Amino acid sequence: MEFHTPSTGLFFRTDKILCSRTSAFQKIEVFDHDFYGKVLFLDGLVQTTEKDEFYYHEMLVHPAMACHSSPESILIIGGGDGGALRQALSYPVKHVTLVEIDSEVIEVCREFLPWLKVCLKDKRAELVVADGNDFLAQSQRNFDVILVDSSDPVGPSAVLHQKDFFRKIKKRLNPGGVAACQAGSLLLHGPSFHGKSRFLKGFFKVARFYVGPVPTYPGGTWVYNFVSDTADPMELKRKPPAGLRFYNQDVHRAAFALPNVLKKLVG
Ligand code: SAM
Repeated sequence: MEFHTPSTGLFFRTDKILCSRTSAFQKIEVFDHDFYGKVLFLDGLVQTTEKDEFYYHEMLVHPAMACHSSPESILIIGGGDGGALRQALSYPVKHVTLVEIDSEVIEVCREFLPWLKVCLKDKRAELVVADGNDFLAQSQRNFDVILVDSSDPVGPSAVLHQKDFFRKIKKRLNPGGVAACQAGSLLLHGPSFHGKSRFLKGFFKVARFYVGPVPTYPGGTWVYNFVSDTADPMELKRKPPAGLRFYNQDVHRAAFALPNVLKKLVG
């Protein structure tokens, strides 16, 4: 059961618990469900399900990739389940670096989620176990596309939603670079979008929000940030790879049309 408010939430009925352990950072649980397939929970919150992961991962990765003319070096911060990594590797990129803080998330997902094992065998994939914020502060490397696949702004992920982190992202983007970040639930995290919009507009020439559905995330509508100093989210520079199940160029354009409730918050 995941609680969204003290008296509402989402439940899965199953007796197939595959893993339940506590790492230095969080409680990690995986179970098998007859409709959703393998489901990953961290600290009691759904992170990904086999059935609907593509809604979230395609919308996190492809809008940024579509707006860069030739992305070669990609950085993913968080995302230890490997769903974003799989999408990024579907382009002819040179390398994708995944920086995940919790090695136990990687271990568990490698064992139970079918795609991570395959992606980590790809020679272009590099895995770094570290805090994404520290990695950006210490590394001298720059990237064409940075994707922030964090959890909600509590625990180790809190830092990945803060002003100083986005300042570091700006420093680590190559000219022409684009970053996309998950920002949270339209229903539950609305109050944080106003402040975020203000500081992002201070850092980047282009600081836009976009939305997409994710059936198993709270409220069902998810919000993402698109930031860049040059890329216009309405100027699509490349076609998406074949075989996607959610994202296409029409969905891309539509995702940047904000509902009034969000427009009001972000200006
Ligand atoms: N988008 C998903 C959601 O909102 O439910 C999150 C998926 S992904 C599993 C989030 C990952 O970010 C987790 O594996 C977590 O360990 C990792 N993470 C949290 N804080 C981090 C940090 N400071 N640096 C790097 N990875 C971090």
